[in-house]
Amino acid sequence: MECFEVRTRSRNEFIDITETVRERLRAKGIRDGACLVYAPHTTAGITINENADPDVQRDLQAQLSRIAPQEGLYRHAEGNSDGHVKSSLVGASQLIPIEGGRLALGQWQAIYFCEFDGPRTRRVYLQWLAGV
Ligand code: ZN
Repeated sequence: MECFEVRTRSRNEFIDITETVRERLRAKGIRDGACLVYAPHTTAGITINENADPDVQRDLQAQLSRIAPQEGLYRHAEGNSDGHVKSSLVGASQLIPIEGGRLALGQWQAIYFCEFDGPRTRRVYLQWLAGV
């Protein structure tokens, strides 16, 4: 398993980590298989979505904040319940197929690290699954 750090600057932030995953894949040299991209955090997540129009990320963040506003009727006293809810909605990982040595992402797809309780220094794990 490999690991790299992500430094976030806002409470809510999406960071495009696609190029980092691509670089690691090139170094690994896997032709066919899959890559598990995983965030070991309870107020963060990993998602795949559009990279062309930054308004897509803004809309995603805005809609998640409508579902889980920062100030809400929460029992958890740490003050980051909104982040916990968003983390579970987005999920902690994505499994991306590798085909011919490349991530099998669509033209407009990018891999995003999703911060929901920043700013913090976060970790992303990559687990490589080599096919036959
Ligand atoms: Zn908490």
